[in-house]
Amino acid sequence: SGMTLDLYKYVASIPDYPEKGIIFRDILPLMANGEAYKQATDELVDYAKNKNVDMVVGPEARGFIVGCPIARELGVGFAPARKKGKLPRKAISASYTLEYSTATLQMEEDSIKPGQRVLVVDDLLATGGTISATIEMVEKMGGIVVGCAFLIELKDLNGREKIKDYDVKALMEF
Ligand code: 5GP
Repeated sequence: SGMTLDLYKYVASIPDYPEKGIIFRDILPLMANGEAYKQATDELVDYAKNKNVDMVVGPEARGFIVGCPIARELGVGFAPARKKGKLPRKAISASYTLEYSTATLQMEEDSIKPGQRVLVVDDLLATGGTISATIEMVEKMGGIVVGCAFLIELKDLNGREKIKDYDVKALMEF
């Protein structure tokens, strides 16, 4: 309808989750609203449009929710970075420290072809550990990371410093 929504209104802030002192930013209300979800993913498509993206990559699970509609709109493929032990074929791995724990992500070893231009997407940038592990695997396969796109960036955690060599877009900041 041409109306621009204030996307901040569709993020729920949950105090003391998953532990005391942390404010969890919940994007489920944004996803639950068709117009907000469309606007948010359209804005990230606009960001990516002139980058000649060949593939979108996103980490499990909210990276899928944000990344797949972007890939669909760009008319390119999507390759998931999954939590360890979920992929049936040969995979490569990258380990990282989360905001709250340690984890390993995996991608199918041929899911990015050498020289492909890759947009890396997640719902939220915190410390940057998740996105850095994802980037590491893309680059191991010879992919070129042409941008990193998020709905939300948590400024205090300084994740942008960890990915300062890349072009970064976040729709909202907390
Ligand atoms: P990082 O690895 O940058 O420290 O953390 C980002 C990852 O953890 C993302 O995959 C994101 O889904 C998840 N995450 C961490 N904190 C939050 C939060 O407050 N809200 C949401 N939605 N995800 C979070």
